[in-house]
Amino acid sequence: MNRQIPHHPKAFLFDMDGTLYDSMPNHASSWYQMICEHGIPCTPEEFYLYEGATGHFTVNLLIRRAFGRDATDEEVQSYYERKAEIFRSKPAPGVMPGALDLVRAVESLPWKPQTILVTGSAQGSLLGMLDSDFPGAFPIERRVTALNVKRGKPNPDPFLQGAKLAGVKPEECVVIENAPLGVMAGDRAGCFTVAVATGPTPHEKLAEAGADLIFSSMPECAAQLPEMLCNS
Ligand code: MG
Repeated sequence: MNRQIPHHPKAFLFDMDGTLYDSMPNHASSWYQMICEHGIPCTPEEFYLYEGATGHFTVNLLIRRAFGRDATDEEVQSYYERKAEIFRSKPAPGVMPGALDLVRAVESLPWKPQTILVTGSAQGSLLGMLDSDFPGAFPIERRVTALNVKRGKPNPDPFLQGAKLAGVKPEECVVIENAPLGVMAGDRAGCFTVAVATGPTPHEKLAEAGADLIFSSMPECAAQLPEMLCNS
């Protein structure tokens, strides 16, 4: 918790899973089921900690732990495809309560900051819902996804790319994240990083990752953050 709230930040970089959508329970259980199918020991909770990372990062981590070697490209692809298949078979996750309120509150700030999507996901099933669930907020040209960056979160690249898309400096951006690896990426990019604890991850993990400000829920963030920014 070291950065001052920026004065009239020019862009807001929104994470998607667990931030805009209540999709993490589906992601975590899909990862868990897929890894169990391979007979690799794991727990359902651990997948919340890898949230925000690319599929490559997560598959490699689990294969290294189980077999003491790196995953092959074929393994990464087949594991991730199977995980995505399980995810798609589940009921579509809903918009995170409070997320649309926060997006609308940001858009209504008097200095009209931009809204940009910065996600480690390549999951078309959710990306395709953004236009109808958050009309006008995250058009294709204002999205950074797993397809646009080589090094995903916790590297700073996705948020640096988001700032670049907005045409502003990273320190003029506010990151909205729910996961430790995403918070770490926002912090490393030099953005004011707001963590919202929407899942089981404790506040301490978000603070350790470098969050500048932590809220317990999206409704709390939507109710308090815009006012804090207006007064900064
Ligand atoms: Mg997330």
